[in-house]
Amino acid sequence: MPIGLYLHVPFCASKCPYCDFYSVVSTPEVWDAYTAALCNTITEQGALCNTTADTLYLGGGTPSLLGAQRLTRILRAARQAFHVTDTAEITLEANPGDDLAHVFAAFAAEGGNRISLGMQATDNTHLRTLGRRHTTEETEAAVRCAQQAGITNISLDLMLGTPHQTAANVRDAVARCTDWGATHVSAYLLKLEPGTPFGTTPPPIPNEDETIALYHTAAEALEQNGYRQYEISNFAHTGFESRHNIKYWNLDPYLGLGPSAHSFFGGKRFAYPRDLSAFIAGNTPLAENDEPTAIAEGSPEEYAMLRLRLTAGLSEADFHARYGKPLPEQWVQRAAALPSSLITCDENGIRLTREGFLVSNAVISHLLGG
Ligand code: SF4
Repeated sequence: MPIGLYLHVPFCASKCPYCDFYSVVSTPEVWDAYTAALCNTITEQGALCNTTADTLYLGGGTPSLLGAQRLTRILRAARQAFHVTDTAEITLEANPGDDLAHVFAAFAAEGGNRISLGMQATDNTHLRTLGRRHTTEETEAAVRCAQQAGITNISLDLMLGTPHQTAANVRDAVARCTDWGATHVSAYLLKLEPGTPFGTTPPPIPNEDETIALYHTAAEALEQNGYRQYEISNFAHTGFESRHNIKYWNLDPYLGLGPSAHSFFGGKRFAYPRDLSAFIAGNTPLAENDEPTAIAEGSPEEYAMLRLRLTAGLSEADFHARYGKPLPEQWVQRAAALPSSLITCDENGIRLTREGFLVSNAVISHLLGG
C-alpha cells in the first residue's frame, strides 16, 4: 500500500500565542542547514523503507517560509526517494501575508497541487487578538496567488471559539471561503494548550454552550455552501477531502520526517523528538515509540477510535475486511444503549452524530469500554 509522507518544517516568522506545534523563529542560515538535513533524511529513509508515497504533505510550522529554492530541493528529494506517484496529492501549508508568488509557482512546477492556508478568521481585529500576522485581504490575495499558479485545490483553516467571535463572524468567514473558491475548510475549536501564552493567561473566550453554538453555526453554513462534513473538523466539496489526513484516521501507513513528526509504519509508531539542533546534527534517528500507550498500536480499538472521527464512521464491512471478524458485540451493545442524538448504530456499522462529535472523547471511551 502506498504511504503518506509528511515533512515537518519547524519554522515560523513569529509564534502565535495559542500554538503548541513544534516551530521556532530562526534565520535563513538555519533554514539552509535544515533543508540539507531534511533532504539527507528523506534519501536515507526512502532507501530504508523502499516504498511509494501517494500523498505528500509539507506542514509545520510555516513551510512556505523556506522560499522557492529550498522547497524545490525538498520536493525533488521526496519525489525521488519515495517514488511519489503522478496522481499524488501534494500539499503545502502557507501563511497568508507572506511573499508567496514565487513559492507557489515553484511548488506547482514540482507537481504541488494543494495549498492549505491558515486563514483562522476574517475579522482583522480578531486576527490581531490571535497573534496572526496577516489580514483578511491578505488571505484573499494568497488564495488568488495560488489560483494564478494553477493550484485550485485550496484548504482554509477556520478557528472556532475564539475571543469575541460571534455567529455573524463565522458566517462571514464561510461566505468568504465560498466566494474565494476554497475546496476544503478545516473548522476547529481553539484549545488553550498548557505552556502556551493563551494557556498561561487565557483570553476571554466564549463559554462551552456558546462554543457549541459556534460549531453548529459553522457546520450548517458550510453545508449550505456545498462543503460536506467528513470528519469532526473537516468539510470539503465532494472529491476534495484531504487524502493525506484520511490516512491518519484510516490507520493507513504514513511516515513523518522532521523534529516532532510522527509515523505509523509496519504496524508500529515512531517519532522524532522536538529538537531542531539534534535533527540538523543527524543525532535523532527515527525512534520507535517506547512510551506505554493505553491502546495498542494498530489494534481494533485504535482503528475504531480513529474511524469514529469520520462521518463515515466504523463500518462493519471494513472492520471485517481488516481484522477478519465482526465488530465486537460489546461495542455494538454500548452504542445501541447511547442516545441516538450522539451515535447511530445499524447493520452497516457505528457513526457519531454531529452532537456526538462535540463529546467524541467521552463517547468513544465509553464505547470501547475505557
Ligand atoms: S503560524 Fe501556525 S505553526 Fe506557526 S506559530 Fe502560528 S499557528 Fe503555530
